[in-house]
Amino acid sequence: MARTIPAPPSAFTQDPAEATGSGVNGLRRDPSVLPEDEGGLVRKVADRDLLDPLAGNLAPVPFETSPEGTSTTSGKASVPMFRRVRERLPVPPDHILAEIERKVHVGERLSAADGMALFASPDLLWLGRLARHAQRRISGDTVFFNINRHLNLTNVCKAKCAFCSFRRDDGEAGAYTMTVAEAVATARATVATLPITELHIVNGLHPDLPFDYYVDMLRALSDALPHVHLKAFTAVEIWWFARITGKSYAEVLHDLREAGLGSMPGGGAEIFAPAVRRRICGYKSTAEDWLAVHRTAHGLGIRTNSTMLYGHIETAADRIDHLLRLRDLQDETGGFQVFIPLRFHNANNRMSDLSMATPLETARIFAISRLMLDNIPHLKAYWIMLGLDTAQMLLEFGVDDMDGTVVEERIYHMAGAHTPHEMGRNELLRVIRDAGREPVQRDTTYNVMRRFARDDDPSDDLPIAMPVQSGALGVIQ
Ligand code: SF4
Repeated sequence: MARTIPAPPSAFTQDPAEATGSGVNGLRRDPSVLPEDEGGLVRKVADRDLLDPLAGNLAPVPFETSPEGTSTTSGKASVPMFRRVRERLPVPPDHILAEIERKVHVGERLSAADGMALFASPDLLWLGRLARHAQRRISGDTVFFNINRHLNLTNVCKAKCAFCSFRRDDGEAGAYTMTVAEAVATARATVATLPITELHIVNGLHPDLPFDYYVDMLRALSDALPHVHLKAFTAVEIWWFARITGKSYAEVLHDLREAGLGSMPGGGAEIFAPAVRRRICGYKSTAEDWLAVHRTAHGLGIRTNSTMLYGHIETAADRIDHLLRLRDLQDETGGFQVFIPLRFHNANNRMSDLSMATPLETARIFAISRLMLDNIPHLKAYWIMLGLDTAQMLLEFGVDDMDGTVVEERIYHMAGAHTPHEMGRNELLRVIRDAGREPVQRDTTYNVMRRFARDDDPSDDLPIAMPVQSGALGVIQ
């Protein structure tokens, strides 16, 4: 389906003559909004060892980086490798914004051009009210959370995404891989102290672990904890398993489901636009692969989540393209449960030169996501990466899910997240109620497990997140 995004200065004219271009999904990428460092730098291939195992995938932009995360040119100068795009989108005329407001109020679908207009709209609070209106139609005053534990089986990864602070090479300091027994013991220890209903399992693309390791892992966890839902493996991991086994996505998913897979997380989507994807994570699955895995999962009745990594070198057009690709697939399958915008973090990775998205920029992205994704029921603010204050604010920008307990989060804390390492459930209830909303504990597939009345503060207060110590990796090496 062809889509167009008008570009400044003739934005919002809908002139078909201006609606051509070679952008993704029919969206035209205006040269004025390309990342500032496109071209111009002399770069060398540093990761040739990655070319074979991931052959056939997008070829990443080659580069070499200094330890500080800056690129080098001939070993002499040092300039930033990545820079954020400075876009100056023209403010839309009032009648365009009024038409968008009308569409939202009558439940009419927004176009790509509407999405671009929203990125340029001057009144953020107006945008928030629209998003809250759209959200209220779906879930009223309910704010969901669940009680889960994150489990990262290995941080050894063959890919080298530029934004990743989590991955290690095999044998590198800090690299770890859990045995099945260690993973089961860790999960059992959590269940002994916290009534989790879900294990959220995502991992690096380990070059040597066989597929049977993952199948055995799920089976052992499922046998040990039959009442805990296993939400496991991003679409990128499923794509990896298909590569190392020669199986189809359907065969991989079938095997995993037989072993206990309940649903899939939404990670690995990053940003679909190939020009950006090639630069930040060109060695892993393409957008088409990611979408194909989710399409297959939905066809098998496996519910999945969806994400977008924002606040790096992507443009507003890239974000709209990403949202519309998800919306198209959801029209086709209906299998996505929730959309989770993930804020890029800039510590301990090769994109450390970039500043991070501010709370107001974040609020705009969340609100626009709620408005564009009219067919994905929930919008989650992952407070661990946003901060509890920002997550609470986002309840006024279309959010209806605060994620909840995230026991032993590693990935974003290794990337510089400064969110609390421990907080009580009653604090989460307080934050939700303070926004005038009703806290509801859910299971993984959004079935209501418990509604909390205004004065219902359980005496058995639960921790929201367990400490993530700098030496935590050593515990399970
Ligand atoms: S984001 Fe995932 S695939 Fe990319 S390097 Fe990190 S662990 Fe590997």
